[in-house]
This record gives sequence, structure tokens and C-alpha cells, in this order.
Amino acid sequence: MNRAVSSVRSCHVARLVSSRGAAAAAAFSSPAAAEAWDRRFRLHKPRGQHLLTNPRVLDAIVRRAALRPGDAVLEVGPGTGNLTVRLLESPAARVSAVEIDPRMVDAVTARVDALGLAHKLTVIKGDAVEAEFPEFDVCVANIPYGISSPLIAKLLFGPYRFRAATLLLQKEFARRLVAVPGDSEYNRLATNVRMVADARLLMDVSKRDFVPMPKVDSSLVEIRPRAAAPDVDLAEWLAFTRACFGQKNKTLGAIFKQKRKVLELFRRSRGADERRNDNAGGSSSLVRLGGGDDGDISDNDGNDSYDGAASFSEEEVTAFKAKIAGALESTELAGKRPSKLSNDELLRLLRLFNEQGVRFQ
Ligand code: SAH
Repeated sequence: MNRAVSSVRSCHVARLVSSRGAAAAAAFSSPAAAEAWDRRFRLHKPRGQHLLTNPRVLDAIVRRAALRPGDAVLEVGPGTGNLTVRLLESPAARVSAVEIDPRMVDAVTARVDALGLAHKLTVIKGDAVEAEFPEFDVCVANIPYGISSPLIAKLLFGPYRFRAATLLLQKEFARRLVAVPGDSEYNRLATNVRMVADARLLMDVSKRDFVPMPKVDSSLVEIRPRAAAPDVDLAEWLAFTRACFGQKNKTLGAIFKQKRKVLELFRRSRGADERRNDNAGGSSSLVRLGGGDDGDISDNDGNDSYDGAASFSEEEVTAFKAKIAGALESTELAGKRPSKLSNDELLRLLRLFNEQGVRFQ
């Protein structure tokens, strides 16, 4: 199976050393007191630095993660370590935490050091979207919400094999993630996630449980990758759902009738083999799941003319268009909106498109 893999960059791995940050360690002599923010440095909202400070919620997250003895845990954005210390005190064997802000790296390092738990923690300095993750069984994290979509794409469509990810996410994003076909929130993100995993809501968390208080509430979500990989070329599937959900409230018939879209698909389908050869061994770009905008190639409703450099005839394009219409007709999906369809129905359509030589990437 051809798994779309996000590009990874090696990053610096900092192992804890016990002599580090004595002053900061003193500030964390009491783990419970450490959850309140003592304003040692300014928190950056653009980096999603909202610390979760409610001990009951922190305990609940670790409980819901159902860690097992020997588990390797991945945490993204440990911050000052409010969740990290609980993960380290759980039955899990070890925790790897990826943190972008050097001040946070120092803070969590010193705190864990003071608690005598340093031997169980590896802090990886870097951007979690770019960094190569070590092997892990479960991911448990209150992540910076700005990277929700690329991070989930990386977890589910990257090379990692893990049991579950228990993530605190922005409430609205979480609702979209667990939506089912027909829900008003159902979108490309949910479609793509459902293809490879089961996602469910565990609990809501108030914005009042964070310092500084964010504008949005949060929800804890569990994502469990399915044991068996789906029988589909995932890169092709991702490109297909991108085409379908660009305008999720139009019918598929209307979406695939647009001249610009037909032309784009025509070019892609003709060049698919060449591009696959060109890309072999090259680094692929980050997988995008459609967590924010579901926008696609700009679509206007078909009054544009063919590009000047085109080396194909209008007859060829007309024949190609007929193939698309034929596939839609035989699946009886032309009058349906993508947001109402199950993955089985979408997959049936993709298979038929592919059989007809219509390729999406
Ligand atoms: N988990 C902690 C902190 C949450 S704040 C708690 O619950 O209290 C989010 C954290 O993610 C911050 O420490 C921030 O510096 C870090 N962060 C932001 N962008 C990141 C990225 N791209 N990669 C890794 N860490 C990131």
C-alpha cells in the first residue's frame, strides 16, 4: 500500500541531565503548586501556550488514556510539564515530549529533574510537525491547537504505528473530527480520519481550566488507528476527498461538471504515471487532511477557456468528461452531496473513476 508520509527532519534530541536548571527546579519543589503559573516568563498565545492548570482535568486525561505498564508515551507540547509529570507517574515506562520553545524545554526538564523522574523522560527540542517521532504506543497531549490538523495527519498518515492518541483539541475542531456523514460538521477531515481510524469524544474541558484563559473551550478526543490498513492508495484517496470536499454543499454531479475541474483532472490523469516516476524517492510534502479550509483549486463555474499551452484536443476532454459522468451515473451518486456519503460510497466512486482512467494525483 502506498502510504502518504509527511516529510520529516531530524531534530535535536536533548536527554535530561540532572544538574540542569537548579533555580527553576526550586520553583517546582511542590508538584501540585507548580500547576499554577508563576509568570516566570511571558506565555506566547500565537504558540498556543495555554497551560492546563486544573488538576482534576489533568488527572482525568491520564485516566482516560488508560496507560499500560511498559507503554512508551509521546507528548506534544509539554509546556511546563503539568501533564508530563502525571504521565511519568503513571504505569507507562517512558515519555518522549516534543517541545518547540527552549524556555519550556528548560522548565519541564528542571521540574521533572526535581521530582526524580528524569530517567523516564526524553525531551525532543523541535517543531512537532517536522520532528521525527521516536516509536510510541500512545500519544497523550494538550497540544497547541494551531497544529491540530497537520499533527493528526502526521500521526495517522505517517509511518507511525500506535494504539491510540488521546488529544485535547479545540472543541469545534473536535466536533468536526468525530462527525459522521450527514452531520452539518461532516467534512474532509472527518472523512479522511474515518478511513484509517475511529475517533470519539471523551469529555469537554472549559476554557477556565487554562492559564492564560483562551477564547475557546476544549474537548478530549481519542483516536484509535484501525489494525488493518484500508485497501486503497491513501495518497489517491486524500487527493480525491480534496476534490470532493472543496465545495461540500454542491452535488458531486455539479462539482465534477465544472470545466476547470475536468481539465485539471484530465491533466493529472494523463500525467499520473510520469509524475509518480518523477516523485519516486523524492520528499513528499506534508499531508493535509482539510482541518481548516476545505478549499481546493479555485473553481469558477466553467466559463474559463482552456489554457494556451494545452497539447490535447477538445474531443479528448469531452470523452474524458463523459467517463466522469458515466462513473457518477452508474454509482447513482451524481445528485448526492459529498458530506452525506459514507466512506464506502465514496470509495466505490473512486474505484470506478480509477477504472475509467480518472486519477486524482
Ligand atoms: N501541555 C502543556 C502546555 C500546553 S501549551 C499543558 O497542558 O500545560 C502548548 C505547548 O506547545 C507550549 O509549550 C508550546 O511552546 C508548545 N508548542 C507550540 N507549537 C509547537 C510545535 N509546533 N511543536 C512542539 N511544541 C509546540
